[in-house]
Amino acid sequence: MAKKSNNSFKLIMILTLVVVGILAAIIILTQATKEDAQSFENMPDISGQPILGEEAAPVTIVEFGDFKCPACKAWGENVYPQLVKDYVESGKVKFVYINVLFHGQESALGAAAAEAVWKQNSDAYWDFHKQLFDEQPSANHDSQWITTDKLIEIASNTDGVDLEQFKEDLTSQDIVDAVRLDSELTEEFKVEMTPTIMVNDQALTDPFDYEKMVEIIEQELDGE
Ligand code: CA
Repeated sequence: MAKKSNNSFKLIMILTLVVVGILAAIIILTQATKEDAQSFENMPDISGQPILGEEAAPVTIVEFGDFKCPACKAWGENVYPQLVKDYVESGKVKFVYINVLFHGQESALGAAAAEAVWKQNSDAYWDFHKQLFDEQPSANHDSQWITTDKLIEIASNTDGVDLEQFKEDLTSQDIVDAVRLDSELTEEFKVEMTPTIMVNDQALTDPFDYEKMVEIIEQELDGE
């Protein structure tokens, strides 16, 4: 009799531990989800922005980036190629880049140049974009390297860019407006670091966490 009640007690203890364990796991998982990404009511309005991939792709990834930012260069070299290979080429994801001006005048100049290329030939944009990041020095990136001369040089090495048109557009009102539109989006989505990566309406806490990015992409593809 004593033995039996001892067994019941053990069973209750085990069940209690299991329930506590499950509750703890749920709490930890919920918190992890919250901390891995921040949800917004909408995704950014991408009209007037450069798009890589199929426009009809069901998932949109937006990078808020800055040509002067070393982490953006690192992201473009280490995460972006995998994303393009895994999701953009198959038409599941389209990629959009929005300019952030966290490094002052040089950021603004680089952004204006990229907008000017996109305005005259959207097909030339991504080539120019990559070349500009390639020019970012790996050491001493705070030194001045985005200059009008450098931008003209890169534009002249980009297929499909009319150089005279590019120079003219660089300081035009259209381009000033395009850069301002990006700054408004940067504010609207409370961007505090570059790169900030959004998958539809969710901003990743760690832009280099590719597993988390894939997890959200797959959820969005499943319509969750
Ligand atoms: Ca833009």
